[in-house]
Amino acid sequence: MSVITLEQLIKWRREFHQYPEIGWSEFLTTAKIVDQLRGLNLEVKVGTDVINPEYAFGRQRSIVDKGLEIARKHNVSEELLQEMQELTGCVAIFDSGKAGPTVALRFDIDCVGVTESTADDHRPKNDNFSSCHPGEMHACGHDGHISIGLAVANWLVDNKDKLTGKVKLLFQPAEEGVRGARAMAESGIVDDVDYFLGSHLGFIANSGEIVINPTHFLCTTKLDFRFKGVPSHAGAEPELGLNALAGACHASTQMLGISRHGKGMSRINIGVLKAGEGRNVTPAYAEMQVEVRGENEDINRFMSENAIRMAEGSAHSFKLEMESEVMGEAVDLTNDQQLIDILTNVVNQHTELTGIATRPFGGSEDATILAKRVQRCGGKSLYFVVGADRTAGHHQSKFDFDEKEMLTAYNLYTGCLTSLL
Ligand SMILES: [Zn+2]
Repeated sequence: MSVITLEQLIKWRREFHQYPEIGWSEFLTTAKIVDQLRGLNLEVKVGTDVINPEYAFGRQRSIVDKGLEIARKHNVSEELLQEMQELTGCVAIFDSGKAGPTVALRFDIDCVGVTESTADDHRPKNDNFSSCHPGEMHACGHDGHISIGLAVANWLVDNKDKLTGKVKLLFQPAEEGVRGARAMAESGIVDDVDYFLGSHLGFIANSGEIVINPTHFLCTTKLDFRFKGVPSHAGAEPELGLNALAGACHASTQMLGISRHGKGMSRINIGVLKAGEGRNVTPAYAEMQVEVRGENEDINRFMSENAIRMAEGSAHSFKLEMESEVMGEAVDLTNDQQLIDILTNVVNQHTELTGIATRPFGGSEDATILAKRVQRCGGKSLYFVVGADRTAGHHQSKFDFDEKEMLTAYNLYTGCLTSLL
């Protein structure tokens, strides 16, 4: 293919929009991406070459099975499914054949657990590309991100003789809940990368605006705690029971009392506490879903260590078994000046765009884990925001974005690659 058009980007985006898949179930999505990339004669890695399953946070068997079933229904080949080893996501490797740096670009591919709006003024409904999967929707724009990645892949192949070095296109699963990046990082796939670039559509900027150097990415750890006690008749033999609900409640109130941190922002939220079976039974099971955040890794660690210790202490007090599981994590990020300068130059070449030097991101994004891994290995990283008007906030059932900004993102990526390679 030559010259990527907006029409092509929209076609891809709407196709992915129809078949959204939540984190770790993106087998059909991955298969479609792999087919396209291999069709371009790019080397494509899947399975444990790109995902370390030990770090695949919150990857439940039922979600994997559901994704596999959908893939088979859509005739994804058994050969490819076997190659994927029940792991989603893929990495394409473009090699110019000439010496030069290695650049990684990251695109997330999963959807949100939201049912898409059927309102008459919702474009996906009107234009017939609504989600075919109830309870799942591309409500964050990752369908756009995939399309941008495919467009860049085509551009690389078309411009091979003008380029040097290598490019790794990372199609990362399970960004929602900040679960997938660590597993990809722990595969070692970015350890030889000199430059890392990632971005998001929309979010903190509108169409035509580019936030070149967003700041204030919050570190976060998502934790699940499960308390196990012993049930008993609450009237006749309460002394034989071990009360998991009491343990979880005590842990909750203690966690909400973790002291503030003097060196920066911190957060804790106990979003879910489920326990008990019936009024007259000693509750033998309790589950807590907790998240902590911090302005930097030290503060975040302070929060998570305190939360874990309190859960352990409370379990001990009530003689309960307790297990904790990390369900996701993201870190902070300081963008590198060299890449800020390169992107600034590219943005300035497009008079229709407004470059915003900096703006607080204020949320968490697990691309930071890959970006920081690259920095720790001696490379440079940048995460930026490509503004796009939205019809509703991210993760809402009426979310839709200004599709033309996919072309903007494509132009920025290819502009940066031209500078770097
Ligand atoms: Zn997102």
